[in-house]
Amino acid sequence: MHLVAVPPRIRLLCLTLVVLAGCARNPVTGGLQLALITEGQEIQMGQQAAQEVSSTIGLVDDPALQDYVSDLGLRLAASSERPELPWAFAVVDDATPNAFALPGGPIFITRGLMDLMRSEAQLATVLGHEIGHVTARHHVTSLSRTQLAQIGLGVGGILFPDLQQLGNVASAGLQLLFLSHGRDAERQADDLGFRYALDQSFDVREMGLVFESLERFGEPSNQSPVPSWLLTHPAPDERIQSVGQRLEALANPLGQLRIGEQAYLDRIDGLTYGPNPRNGFFREGLFLHPDLRFQIAFPAGWQTQNLSQTVTALSPQQNAVIQLTLSADSDPEAAARSALNQPGIQVGQTSREPVNGLPAVLATFRAQTQQGTVDGVMAFIAYDGRVYQMMGYGPAGSFASEARSVQESLVTFRELTDPDALDTQPNRIAIVRTTETMTLAEFDDRFPSVIPIEELAVINQVEGPSILLPAGSLVKRVVES
Ligand SMILES: [Zn+2]
Repeated sequence: MHLVAVPPRIRLLCLTLVVLAGCARNPVTGGLQLALITEGQEIQMGQQAAQEVSSTIGLVDDPALQDYVSDLGLRLAASSERPELPWAFAVVDDATPNAFALPGGPIFITRGLMDLMRSEAQLATVLGHEIGHVTARHHVTSLSRTQLAQIGLGVGGILFPDLQQLGNVASAGLQLLFLSHGRDAERQADDLGFRYALDQSFDVREMGLVFESLERFGEPSNQSPVPSWLLTHPAPDERIQSVGQRLEALANPLGQLRIGEQAYLDRIDGLTYGPNPRNGFFREGLFLHPDLRFQIAFPAGWQTQNLSQTVTALSPQQNAVIQLTLSADSDPEAAARSALNQPGIQVGQTSREPVNGLPAVLATFRAQTQQGTVDGVMAFIAYDGRVYQMMGYGPAGSFASEARSVQESLVTFRELTDPDALDTQPNRIAIVRTTETMTLAEFDDRFPSVIPIEELAVINQVEGPSILLPAGSLVKRVVES
């Protein structure tokens, strides 16, 4: 959760798409394809979803790094079949290694993948692959008519996010990220990315190293709202093999190709590694937020998620959810009015008892929504110049069984005073140039990291602790800030 307020009403992304069936020429293959949406609509859909990604996941606050990725991406896209699209490249603040493209130009890469890679050529092949999805219009073909109709659904009145959906991700726009393009499309994106990176003289053999380290890194169990590359993409082995086949098929042997190891590693020196606890973290049943200086206890056993604008908890039976956000209003009374004075909402019991010494308004409610009748309780708590809005709700039929634990959870909101939690800092990448030949294990003795040596081997793309690093190597370590 970052320092962002959301509008008092909770809305799903609403795009007004006119679903048209027609034929359009594919920019990459030149062939005719059945196109359900026009290029204008494709661009509009991507732009809106991109805004949502920026506000939901959040961008890494490092202008130099953002410019670096953007400059490289724009260069690659300029030599693609669709140079005129509104291309945009950004690094999102998510610790899971990943990259994804949205229709019509927006491309995102996660901080976790930046941490994992070791060269500009690797970055170029990843961005190239994502550019390939856009130039070949894979989103347009992957979206089914039903999905298009859902995304285009005009939404009015009160709308609560679907409980099931909150378990994964909180909006319809982000569903675009869950599109699976299929094997042929992935192969085509690899082919295109390979070509774009080669056009800019990057050593595309580095592509295999990205697949390999993604596979070795595996699936960290963290809070990422984005589906993984590993799940949505073909097996790394197969892709590494086909890099070799593509190289053999080249008419001219590779000449002077750029790897750009030092340029890349200089850029990620100091980058946050792993989850960033300043944006909030879970510890022993508590959610603690050092920057906003609050804590709250969610019911035991609930599935929790810390996103950029919200913290959510979902009951094990998925029949109730608690959602914590910052209100745009300046006092609890006004916040309660904005949230509760909406057509379709019936207010039940209201209380103005302070919560742990903080001014608060609590109210039970019943609401008629597109997903049926919903029962719930809202709390508005003023603290440190902000109003926190917490809402626990579920389907009217089954919420009663969870109501008590929801109420009890909401009133655990209080000031965070634990100095250890307040001082928590993220870990960071630090780059060291070795002055003599040593193994990775020896390196780790001399320049200790806060991560296990196996993980250190993965992010340095070496096989294991006994591998010799020649003098003058640039080696990543992970340190506390
Ligand atoms: Zn892909």
